[in-house]
Amino acid sequence: MSSPSITLDQFYHQFPKADLHYHLLGGVRLKTMLAFADKYHVELSEFDAKCYYRAHQGQTGIAKGGIEALTLLYQLMREPEDYIRVLIEVAEDAHACGVRYIETFWNPSDTELTYQQVTEALAKAIDCVEQKMGLIIRLIPSINREKSPEVAVELVEQMITFPHPYVLGLGIDYKEHQAPVEHFWKAYSLAKQHDLKLTAHCSEFGLHWRNVETGIELINVDRIDHGYTIIDNPALTEKYAQQGIPFTVIPSNTFYYKKWPDHRDWAEKHPIRDMAKAGLNIIPCTDDWHIHNTTSANCYRVMVEDFGFDLTSLRHMMINSIEASWAPQHVKTRWLTEWALAFDSLRSCLSEQPVITEAQLIKYRR
Ligand SMILES: [Zn+2]
Repeated sequence: MSSPSITLDQFYHQFPKADLHYHLLGGVRLKTMLAFADKYHVELSEFDAKCYYRAHQGQTGIAKGGIEALTLLYQLMREPEDYIRVLIEVAEDAHACGVRYIETFWNPSDTELTYQQVTEALAKAIDCVEQKMGLIIRLIPSINREKSPEVAVELVEQMITFPHPYVLGLGIDYKEHQAPVEHFWKAYSLAKQHDLKLTAHCSEFGLHWRNVETGIELINVDRIDHGYTIIDNPALTEKYAQQGIPFTVIPSNTFYYKKWPDHRDWAEKHPIRDMAKAGLNIIPCTDDWHIHNTTSANCYRVMVEDFGFDLTSLRHMMINSIEASWAPQHVKTRWLTEWALAFDSLRSCLSEQPVITEAQLIKYRR
């Protein structure tokens, strides 16, 4: 009996994926944001809420940023049940897109609840999700770099005081312009001393490549989130390609999305293509799922349709995502076999192939 054929859209949805750059609150559904506002009697009209969601910004004519959405959402989530609801909905959406593993950020310095309360609520939801869907989610508390380095140290102290097996490492996000990663060296150093993994948003928003260099050379991060302008320094790009430093890259990144609203420009100008051509270890991720109006399936579809990568490139990126994850090595070894088999099996069932012009085509091989 022959295998059933599948479309490209089904393929993007079904092959196994790991999302290593996922802000928990970026995955809050619009109706959930409105439900929280209603629950706590906070004045928030549907129109105002839609301004935070890229899917509706054309309709409202007002585009509020993802970071503003996260700030508001933290204020709207006041009970452990709210975090449980969000994580379960995040898992439902991800599961429908073939995601099998997520490492998700949240900012403990911004929550209405204590670090311990949020961690315990999320852990409870994680157990429930794993049992029901087989989807594994792990946690990366993240520094809000718009707050002081001392607040960041307090965050790491909380992580040390209340350790949890699902908390794997430390991240940093929010606006980088006035707060490069080196300002937070004490927090990172303390985390490293306690065997936590490290990642950092560096050189987002078109900022200088030196922020990536600092993250890797001074802070000793295990991964870089974004890091696009590293390609402006060919020597460092070559060095980090050889070292295999993982870069989580976001096809829907706001800075380039606004810079080149016409996606046809991405196939010529977007730094993700140059990062791939230079042999950097790149992993496509969603960043802010609902806020950015994307999904994991869409993320990989865009890599083909807008960036020009062939399907074998996606396979390499999928492998990158497993290797760069902070899952235990024996689990990663199993996934490397299982996910590759699943990818190849689904690919062999495709009833259509992507149409990529010769000029656009990139074959990413590592
Ligand atoms: Zn991010």
